[in-house]
Amino acid sequence: MKSALITGISGQDGAYLAKLLLGRGYRVLGAARRTSIQASFIPRLRHFSIDDQVEIVDFELSELANIVRIVQKYQPQEIYNLAAQSFVGASWEQPITTSDVNAIGVLRLLEAIRTFSPESRLYQASTSEMFGYASVHPQNESTPFYPRSPYGVAKLYGHWITKNYRESFGIKCVSGILFNHESPLRGQEFVTRKITLGLSRIVLGQQDVLELGNLDAKRDWGFAGDYVDGMWRILNAVKLDDYVLASGETHSIREFAELAANCLGMDLGWSGSESKEIGIDRKTGKTVIRVNPKFYRPAEVPLLLGDSSRAQSELGWRREVEFAGLVEMMARSDYDACKSGCVRF
Ligand code: NDP
Ligand code: GDP
Repeated sequence: MKSALITGISGQDGAYLAKLLLGRGYRVLGAARRTSIQASFIPRLRHFSIDDQVEIVDFELSELANIVRIVQKYQPQEIYNLAAQSFVGASWEQPITTSDVNAIGVLRLLEAIRTFSPESRLYQASTSEMFGYASVHPQNESTPFYPRSPYGVAKLYGHWITKNYRESFGIKCVSGILFNHESPLRGQEFVTRKITLGLSRIVLGQQDVLELGNLDAKRDWGFAGDYVDGMWRILNAVKLDDYVLASGETHSIREFAELAANCLGMDLGWSGSESKEIGIDRKTGKTVIRVNPKFYRPAEVPLLLGDSSRAQSELGWRREVEFAGLVEMMARSDYDACKSGCVRF
């Protein structure tokens, strides 16, 4: 039986990846940091009814000795480093913690592997935010990096140190440069989930208005369930290399909101411009979206569009869920959860 250690097990991707690996017969060790909530209760694992199949180990990416003990004790064949301060917006408020976890945390893990488990394979969760203010569209494995946030800068260190340990010491470590991927399990502060949750509550009379920032930013959004399969393919490829996973389409926040509203029975129109812009449900005449500059970023990434043709041709990776299907899946899930009064994550 193959064993895999997943850091960030309590997050969106941790849950989807654990489900996938359990289905493929792996022993799954879920690395979670201690919280005041019982460690064995992880709502996203409970959602898939796999919380009793994942072995939880106490894990903190800031604590070298803790990482060393876990890597030495379990010596897993595969390690997926998904743990991170993953919210770009928070990284300007907590740049030092973000850098410690997202950059130096990767180095700590690599040092533990190099010293105590050199045969382990490591997948590092790199991100399209490393392309940031990209001058070339679409972005692929050769596109120059231009991170625009402390999050992006820290992740770029994690990316390069992973490549460096592969080249310096022959560690079997690779990065997946993943574009935004979403699901009903996405954190509530990310714009997609904020929209599907907020509009669901508005339709049900539980919230008055949804406040958003820059409506014109564009992202390449895919479905998390498809992307964790890509992680597995990247880590298990014969040739150790870094790959881009992306949908190959880009859409604005405005388009995402229009489609989500449509799924929830609204007909969204817009009025005004910039910080005075509002979104109106044409069916009721009610203002449902308002721009609030507090959600603007100090430095924005205006457009991301990925080219994953290398992952498709070399790894056979395909995405199954299209943009419209993703929006509908998230809107339906949030509507049902809000209606039953049970939003669990
Ligand atoms: P989430 O925010 O849902 O999950 C992040 C996980 O990291 C949580 O389990 C969190 O634990 C854990 N974590 C945070 N800090 C620490 C720490 N100091 N020690 C141990 N664990 C910690 O992110 P996603 O699942 O969406 O993303 C997974 C990874 O992929 C992240 O590294 C992210 O940056 C990266 N990524 C994500 C993309 C996306 O679109 N989703 C795109 C590209 C890259 P807790 O629950 O306790 O907070
Ligand atoms: P990111 O791509 O990892 O930063 O994912 P987010 O979902 O946090 O943000 C995607 C884009 O949505 C960024 O360009 C944000 O500026 C934009 N955006 C607009 N309004 C909001 C909002 O209210 N919250 C968030 N999180 N992002 C917003």
